[in-house]
Amino acid sequence: MDIVVRNAALRGLKGTTDIAIKDGVIASVQPKLSQKGRQEIDAAGSLVLPGLFNLHFHADKCLLGEVMRPNVSGTLPEAIEITKDFKRKYDPAEVAARAIRSLEAGVKNGTSFFRLFSDVGTIGGLRAARGLLLAREKFGRYCDIQVVAFPQEGIARDPGAAELLDEAIKEGCDIVGGLPWYEYTDVDARDHIDICFEIAKRYDRDIHMLVDDTDDANSRSLEYLALKTMREQWHGRVTASHCGAMAGYNDVYAAKIVDMVATAGITISCNAHINLVCSARLDREPRRRGIVRVKELLTRGVNVVTSQDDVNDPYYPFGKPDPLECASMIAHVAQLTLPHELEQVMDMVTVNSARAARVKSYGIATGNKADLVVVGAPSVHEALRTQPLRRHVIKNGREVARAVVTQELVG
Ligand SMILES: [Zn+2]
Repeated sequence: MDIVVRNAALRGLKGTTDIAIKDGVIASVQPKLSQKGRQEIDAAGSLVLPGLFNLHFHADKCLLGEVMRPNVSGTLPEAIEITKDFKRKYDPAEVAARAIRSLEAGVKNGTSFFRLFSDVGTIGGLRAARGLLLAREKFGRYCDIQVVAFPQEGIARDPGAAELLDEAIKEGCDIVGGLPWYEYTDVDARDHIDICFEIAKRYDRDIHMLVDDTDDANSRSLEYLALKTMREQWHGRVTASHCGAMAGYNDVYAAKIVDMVATAGITISCNAHINLVCSARLDREPRRRGIVRVKELLTRGVNVVTSQDDVNDPYYPFGKPDPLECASMIAHVAQLTLPHELEQVMDMVTVNSARAARVKSYGIATGNKADLVVVGAPSVHEALRTQPLRRHVIKNGREVARAVVTQELVG
């Protein structure tokens, strides 16, 4: 065996388990394995998870907070505005280098799959996309990377963006992005969604849009996205991020939309920490939180994930990035605190994300891809509570990161 991980605590199993890895695949999962590994890892009762996901990350903008002025209003429109100047000057090599700094941090925290959003539009052209494709080329041995062609300035609002999106897919982007709520009118928002579907169908691609990321409860693009997904039979191939307008829907309308989203097989990514920072900046008290109705979605069987979204950029000045921090955040915001709800939260950065990305052979079972994290805490509860340094991170059967820091009381 290449690696044997011993004494692992696995979700849903009592006692500890050994995991044998060979040629990038999990070869055996047993309570006690007699085979020896060329590398032996003692998990010592720690929780071992399959590789973590970050399904929504604007890596082209990450760490711009180090060089640009703060977002004074804290709103999304100002964030979009102050990023424009930087985008005009984007150099793909610089974008890639900056992205890799954050990817490296994410891998150390156990992330084995990233979906990176690259701004595509007439301001920056394809420079951000080329930067993230370069990052994938350079850093792909540490993690899986998908690149989204994302029209950050809209499509109707940015004539020429549709052609650039098409070009970005031809150059190697994997996923068709979208931002329909940002258009000026409902008609334009629907046209935006139609154009994204045209491109997705032309190249047989999945779709990941930022939908109704506004405090305006009348924003209606999630409704149309769900309808379009059903009509085009793109079930299971569409993810909608944010959808914070749903927080302000009346309950009857919300129930209809939750049902449509479930029927369409749309995944919802609730990136709670971003919305807590950016949403409801125009509200007086009490302030809404811009959070989609997570519990209602879960109850209806919708696939819900949570993602990092931003790392120190004009939208959000924090972000380690760490999927366990994101999971802890959504547990707070959506009030998911019971034992079975903590399991639901952990699913969001593991199996639910894998389902959304249509990743096959995922999970700790014989024959699956050997992407594992030795968390450094004994249970899901403790992992979310303490978010410890990840002791070992294994990608495609190879150890790619480990924690060597110790911390102790002295004196
Ligand atoms: Zn985003």
